[in-house]
Amino acid sequence: MSYLSIRGLNKQYAATPVFRDINCEINRGEFVTLLGPSGCGKSTLLRCIAGLTAVDGGQIVLDGQDLLPLSPQKRGIGMVFQSYALFPNLTVAENVAFGLRMQKVARDECRQRVEDILALVELSAHADRYPHQLSGGQCQRVALARSLVTRPRLLLLDEPLSALDARIRKHLREQIRSIQQELGLTTLFVTHDQEEALILSDRIVLMNAGQIVQSGSAETLYTEPANAFAASFIGNYNLLDAEQASRLLQRPQPRQIAIRPEAISLQAEGSLRGIVQGHSLLGNVIRYRVQAHGVDLLVDVLNRSADDLLPAGSAVNLNIDPTAIREVA
Ligand code: ADP
Repeated sequence: MSYLSIRGLNKQYAATPVFRDINCEINRGEFVTLLGPSGCGKSTLLRCIAGLTAVDGGQIVLDGQDLLPLSPQKRGIGMVFQSYALFPNLTVAENVAFGLRMQKVARDECRQRVEDILALVELSAHADRYPHQLSGGQCQRVALARSLVTRPRLLLLDEPLSALDARIRKHLREQIRSIQQELGLTTLFVTHDQEEALILSDRIVLMNAGQIVQSGSAETLYTEPANAFAASFIGNYNLLDAEQASRLLQRPQPRQIAIRPEAISLQAEGSLRGIVQGHSLLGNVIRYRVQAHGVDLLVDVLNRSADDLLPAGSAVNLNIDPTAIREVA
């Protein structure tokens, strides 16, 4: 049986549904990412699990216990938000200790647990500082420590990295993942950033417009997108309608298809001729825009040497890996 079980969950604001009949199972120790565009209902789902937002129907069961009758404090859930919301007049150590004080944990034990958790998030040297003396990344580590110190049964992270700059974000996401694995903590992480989801997760639950579109490993979502939305949200698929697909593949194609840019190669010989329209340099990859049979395609090739760049107007032969062509609904 799964550790966290969400069954038939409904939520609406006034008459507007946010989501309807959400079903999702999460195993003990799993790191699951809820991925989807802004406004699709990710935060609301997280808030329902935490008990910060009331649900309009359905069930949430954690480790065999029905969560819905319980207040947020009784659920044993830790939550970290994008805005870290630390107490400005308390030191780092006092901020982290706050939850334990509320639980009336004995002073010595409290001190030890705060010390341990600050070591875990590499903030021991900053225990006596105030939030205004910390960087954004450090504040977010305090918020993480504050939620971990109470030893939650489940950790919920709502876009915790979005307010941070790229370098800090990368470092902190690695830190979160390694702490999660060290503690074996079941974690539900919300993001709209596909790269973050692909890198961090054991499993990704892809949402759109209040519905779960697909659930699976990063590899499954990337190579087997369930529909056109999944293909457009994960990676940079070429999406062709049936008519474009038939023209490009030169055979009748009844359905919409998706082809990843790296599944198309540019070769000296080939039956499919195209003209380069332009390119962008993505570090180690060159992304060409190529037109073939009146269809615009993105083609990714490894950037081996600047001398090899094909200028706009170049005639090229395209080869499409047939095993990489996906029909999508
Ligand atoms: P996400 O986290 O995916 O960006 P949210 O869960 O925040 O999405 O929001 C989902 C939908 O619910 C949005 O259309 C949003 O406008 C609406 N919504 C969220 N919170 C409220 C609220 N307190 N009152 C009314 N509508 C809300």
